[in-house]
Amino acid sequence: MARSTPKNCMFCGEPESDGRPMLQLHDNFHVCFPCMEGLNRIMFKTVPKGEIAAKRILQLISETHPELLPQESEDFVPMEVLTRRQDELPTPMELHKMLNSYVIGQEHAKKTLCVAVYNHYLRLRQKASSDGTEIEKSNILMAGSTGSGKTLLARTLAKILDVPFCIVDATTLTEAGYVGEDVENIVLRLLQAADMNVAKAERGIIYVDEIDKIGRKTQNVSITRDVSGEGVQQALLKIVEGTECNIPPKGGRKHPNESYIRVNTENILFICGGAFVGLEDIIRKRLGASTLGFASIEEGRDTKEYTEEEVLAKTLPEDLFLFGMIPELVGRLPIFAPLTTLTEDELAELLTKPKNALVKQYAKLLAMNGVKLTIKDNALRAMARLAIERGTGARALRSIFENLMLDIMYKVPGDKSIAEVILTEDAVLGKKEPELRRSKKAS
Ligand code: ADP
Repeated sequence: MARSTPKNCMFCGEPESDGRPMLQLHDNFHVCFPCMEGLNRIMFKTVPKGEIAAKRILQLISETHPELLPQESEDFVPMEVLTRRQDELPTPMELHKMLNSYVIGQEHAKKTLCVAVYNHYLRLRQKASSDGTEIEKSNILMAGSTGSGKTLLARTLAKILDVPFCIVDATTLTEAGYVGEDVENIVLRLLQAADMNVAKAERGIIYVDEIDKIGRKTQNVSITRDVSGEGVQQALLKIVEGTECNIPPKGGRKHPNESYIRVNTENILFICGGAFVGLEDIIRKRLGASTLGFASIEEGRDTKEYTEEEVLAKTLPEDLFLFGMIPELVGRLPIFAPLTTLTEDELAELLTKPKNALVKQYAKLLAMNGVKLTIKDNALRAMARLAIERGTGARALRSIFENLMLDIMYKVPGDKSIAEVILTEDAVLGKKEPELRRSKKAS
């Protein structure tokens, strides 16, 4: 099987030519038309053409010889997406299952997001064959500490659904006319992610990060304009609700003589995320107060008994107003998905379980040098504990692991005698060097 040159058929090895056109299955994987037709005849007894054929072949290979397919990387395209028919919308359960391959824990948030995203795209289809009943767009608000997986969830859903996606930082936005980035530029980013295809962009997903940082500074409406807070929220509100935007194709400030690209944001799904540090305390306080009065929801229960998850599940709009979010914007983000801080178990799992887990990536790199990577369970746990101490969740975990591996990745290629690297708890804690097992031949 010739796989060295990108345009050789992965089955017969023949190169691309006029009489042998190639169909790209995935990255560097191509199948020539004669092989494809032969395969289709054998496997499916029919000869579907083009995209459908490629998807069927891919599906079959992924079921029978997954090792032939490229490993998942950070920039993955899930196999389910490659093999799905264009007009198929995965159900919430299917979405959840696919998310599970990439995101650890956060079950409640996953469920909420899958249902919301499914309904959103169902609504778009419904609209196309409208009977007059308008289902309103339901944008999403996610609250969860740094490194709990907010961006990952939004990005992964967009990948699974195969829609354009972009991330913007709310703190860099200002309302038009102030120094900073115009809110409309975020639509330009999505347009760029859609290769400037307006129709595609209009079905995309925009993730607005740090939404909690553009809070109104005071609870009172200020007389002078609030550049970074309320003004931005108002500007954001307009595009989140759905509006026709005039996008300067090159971004930046608008100029009177420039021609604009018109993009309607009505069907763009907005997922806003923020850490909302202190939100839990605000809710606990409210719950505590209500348990003393007549409004007790679950009588006699001290708020100390509630887990973080339970407390956040009780978030009300007024808790978000206290963060300085304007009621209109909160009203436009009706789906609330709280994320919890990742536990030690979840952090340990995160290193090894996801399809693109860091440990898998490093193990593969080492394997290319003929070296095995073994990580003891207690080493995984020690890394998880260190990450919790640092308080930045999975982000800390990544840097801890990468730092630990740096020395190894430096040494291994130059030392052919190394056969195995063993990471122990002591190595993680810096008490010992990682163990190196050498091959007998070389020693
Ligand atoms: P947030 O947006 O909540 O601050 P991110 O989604 O950007 O966090 O996560 C930071 C890094 O940690 C990413 O590389 C991501 O892959 C990883 N990560 C975070 N949470 C999870 C999770 N629940 N499961 C798997 N990986 C995660």
